[in-house]
Amino acid sequence: MSEDEEAKYIPVKWVENYTYCPRQFYFLAMGLRERQTEFMAEGKEEQEGIEEKERRRQTVLAKRKEKVVQRWFDVPLKSDQLGLVGQVDMIIDVGDGIVVVDFKDASGSRPTDGFVYQTSAYSMMAEERFGKPVKSFIVYYVKSDKAFELQLTDSLRRHVEFVARRMRMIIQREEIPYAQRGKRCTSCGFRYACRGRLWEIRKMGGSGTTGFYLMWGYCLAMWIGRPESHREN
Ligand code: SF4
Repeated sequence: MSEDEEAKYIPVKWVENYTYCPRQFYFLAMGLRERQTEFMAEGKEEQEGIEEKERRRQTVLAKRKEKVVQRWFDVPLKSDQLGLVGQVDMIIDVGDGIVVVDFKDASGSRPTDGFVYQTSAYSMMAEERFGKPVKSFIVYYVKSDKAFELQLTDSLRRHVEFVARRMRMIIQREEIPYAQRGKRCTSCGFRYACRGRLWEIRKMGGSGTTGFYLMWGYCLAMWIGRPESHREN
């Protein structure tokens, strides 16, 4: 992607980060790298195994009787309407529409809001690209081998549009979202940066001058973005 395109389109993955915590999205937009764990690497391997199985199947995730007309994997998507770009794991043509599938290295009894909004965004982008209605979308939890099938409702569409607009506004105004600290911070890959451990921010920005400038950029952003109540009159 050219520099102009990078400025024009926001990665769809950030919809999930924004939903998890707007400040997490901000760190990514600033160029900080999320800390990777062994757990994340294992999840990726499992996901690749499931995808391989899917390539051989004739029905949608072997969970339904619906016949597959055609199936695409790792489909690149770009939306001028939403200003988003990304790649979805699988799109299935089921004749009278398409089904969008996103694999997640997760387990649980329900999909998180972030995954639902991210896959909704992929679905809207897939509609734009294929010109076919989305019959449903599936968030597939690889670790528990569970498929959550959902409808792309009007309220999901409106929320995705809102998040896309909000993310763009944060980037354009260089506005640091207020930290909504809570339980979720424990598993956040940016917690060291968020707690202001500057040497950690420098490490996350990579070696050399990039990390150094990120560190000072972070200090400036924290100062500008501090809550109104703490500012001097
Ligand atoms: S540490 Fe908590 S407040 Fe900070 S970015 Fe992560 S989730 Fe958000």
